[in-house]
Formats: sequence, structure tokens, C-alpha cells
Amino acid sequence: MHYFTYKNNHLFCEDVSLEALAQKVGTPTYVYSQATLTRHFKAYQDVLKNHRHDMPNHLVCFSVKANSNLAILKLLKNLGAGFDIVSQGELYRVLKVGGNPKHVVFSGVGKTQEEMTYALKKNILCFNVESEQELILLNQVAKKLKKKAPVSIRVNPDIDPKTHPYISTGLKENKFGIPIQEALALYQRSSEFSSIQFIGIDCHIGSQMLSLDPILESVRELKKVILDLKQKGIHIQHLNIGGGLGIPYSKETPPSPQEYLKDVLSELKDLKIKLLCEPGRTIVGNAGILLTKVLYTKKTASKNFIIVDSAMNDLIRPTLYDAHHEVWPVQRSIDTPRVEQRRMTSVDIVGPICESGDFLAKDRKLAQPQPSDLLVVMSAGAYGFSMSSNYNSRPRVAEALVSGNKFKICRKREALKDLIRGEKP
Ligand SMILES: *Cc1c(COP(=O)(O)O)cnc(C)c1O
Repeated sequence: MHYFTYKNNHLFCEDVSLEALAQKVGTPTYVYSQATLTRHFKAYQDVLKNHRHDMPNHLVCFSVKANSNLAILKLLKNLGAGFDIVSQGELYRVLKVGGNPKHVVFSGVGKTQEEMTYALKKNILCFNVESEQELILLNQVAKKLKKKAPVSIRVNPDIDPKTHPYISTGLKENKFGIPIQEALALYQRSSEFSSIQFIGIDCHIGSQMLSLDPILESVRELKKVILDLKQKGIHIQHLNIGGGLGIPYSKETPPSPQEYLKDVLSELKDLKIKLLCEPGRTIVGNAGILLTKVLYTKKTASKNFIIVDSAMNDLIRPTLYDAHHEVWPVQRSIDTPRVEQRRMTSVDIVGPICESGDFLAKDRKLAQPQPSDLLVVMSAGAYGFSMSSNYNSRPRVAEALVSGNKFKICRKREALKDLIRGEKP
């Protein structure tokens, strides 16, 4: 079941025509499908509910950095999501939509004292601690507030997630987590940390993972640590397997969340522990697209360029990770496939920014579009808007959430005055 489909050769998001949406909201615009978001979140929730006998306690914490729009956070909260945050700004957003702080875990290698104070005062579920120095500081901050900080140690199991180096996080050369032996030693030093309560253990070894092997291997490593600690009289209440499951951007065939969780559960069912997970990309990635308009086409000796009104500041993944996003026309040609095939040319789809790295897609076969034609960059819901910037003094784009035949603007397009907010000449 797909929620981005052609009807009479016009692309729709659910029952909203993207051409009509572009006419009302303008371009570029991120467009999200509520039905897709819901289906993706429920994929996680339902497996866990159906395996209640093995794992009665669980929490699916949406990774806020993948897409932090308030409308999306609110929707997921209403479906029962917890949240994985990496800054106090993300906690602020979660609280704004009425998220329960007791369903929030705080990850990240560089939490500041200010962020710790804010999160402690809000009584979040857990801090995922990534270094001994962080643990020492958190202990001091909690003591000052006369609180006990709930802590999970993020273990770095030194396992290759076989993904892009920039989104690999579980290798010993990465900055994330604490090596297993050191983590074991820290748990056993709990008496030194009077304002810390060790409640969990977590890991997150990478993103866009297309195979379950590295994930299951790291889950087994964490399980060993839990059993080892149990023997030493230290009881861990929850295991957090992180996020990182991949999605199909084009021809990839990642395991489904169902397969992923079933395998994880079969590794852990005898452990009698609470399970947490932190999916981001699998929830929002394929629930969103970037709607953009063709400005010009340009032929040089070696290339056909399509210059569109969105750019690397709006969607940086192609530039940053060499990521592949499919590009579809909003209005599909009405030619027969044979004629269509002949009209196809190889094109680069690029933005207006003054950098050669400013491209959205390269060497694509596309029927030559005309200025003002609409295109859609697919699979752009995760790490799209949330990584966008104002580079080249470009106002950040609008975001719209579609449900059935209705849509709402869930973030207004920025105006020129937004560009200079807080500045003084
Ligand atoms: C980014 C991140 C996630 C989410 O990763 P996805 O690949 O989007 O699922 C989960 N946990 C932590 C700690 C992260 O940094």
C-alpha cells in the first residue's frame, strides 16, 4: 500500500493532488503523509504488542532528530510514542506537544550542564551516557538538584554496521559510546556515583542498515553484559537497541521493522527486561517528499541540467552522503511507454546555490521537463527539513501534513524577515 501514487498521471499524496497543493502553498515544500507515518509507527508498536508474553514492557522512542516538526511529534505522541532526543531543544519540542517526559531518553556525546539541568528538572526517563566524564558531571548536577539521574550506558560494541562512514557509529574509531569492558567497570562503580541510578544499557551502531546481522550481533553483546552484571548483583531494567534500520530509497531491500523486532525479541525473550528502541528514518523517511519546481533547463557540452527551486540547504543528504533520492515528475507524460522511453534523457537535477556540490540527483533518466513543471524528490521525510539551513540566505521551506483529502501547513515558509531575526547591523 503506497500513499504517494499517480491518479490519471498526476501524483497524489493520499487523496491530495500535489499540483493543487503546490498552487496553494508554493514550492519548495516538504509534504508528509499522515497515513504513512501512522502505518510505520504501528509496524513497531503492533509487533511489540503481539509479543507481550515475551516482552511485556516496551517503549518505541521516535528519534526526534530525523524530523522534529511539532505536527509529526504530536501525531506520534498520540499513537503512543516515546522520544529519543539529542538536545534540550528537542526536549523543548517534545514538551510543547504534551509529550510525557517519562517517555523520553536523552542521547548524545556532548550534553552540556545546562542541558542536563533542564532534562533533570523535567524528570525524563533516562540519560544515555556516552563517557565517564559525562557520568561524573551528571552525578554532580543531579546532586546539586537533589535528584537521582536515571542512566543507561551507551555501549560501543565495535561492530561494523556496513553503512556510509558518516552514519556509522558503533565502531571503536567512532566518537560514540563506551567500550564494553569499560562500561562493565563503570556499572560496578555505582557507589561512587551517589546521585546516579543505573537503570539501562543501550547502543546505536549506525543508520540506514540493510542487514540484521550487525544489529543482532550487538544485541547479543548487550545481553552478555546484562547477564554478567546480574551475576555481580547489578540489575538492569531496560535494554535499548537504538535505531538505525534502513529504508528503500531506490532498489534496497532492508528487513521490515516486523522482521527486525521479531529477531531481536527471539534473542531477548528469556531476559525478562523492558525493551526500548529508537527508530527515526524508518518512521518518517518514506512518509515525506520534497515538492519542487523547475526553474530552467540548461544543456552544456557534456550535461543536461535541470535547475530547480530547492537546493542543498533544503535537502543536504545527496551532497553530504552521496545519498540517492528518486525524482518523479508530478505530472507524468501521457505518451505511450515506447515514445516516453525515447524522450528520456539523462539529467542532473541541481539547485540555485553557488556550490558544485549543490545537487539533488545525478545522471537520472527523466522526460525533459519544461520550466514551471513540478518534480518530487522522494523519500525525503527523514533528515530532510531537520538538516536544512539558511545557506545563501534562502528562507527555509514550508512543510505540509496530508491526511486523506485534506492537508495543513505544519510549518509556514520563512519570510525574509525571519532570515535576520536577532541580527544587528
Ligand atoms: C540518530 C539516532 C537514532 C535514529 O537513527 P535512524 O537511523 O534514523 O533510525 C537513534 N538513536 C540514536 C542514539 C541516534 O543518534
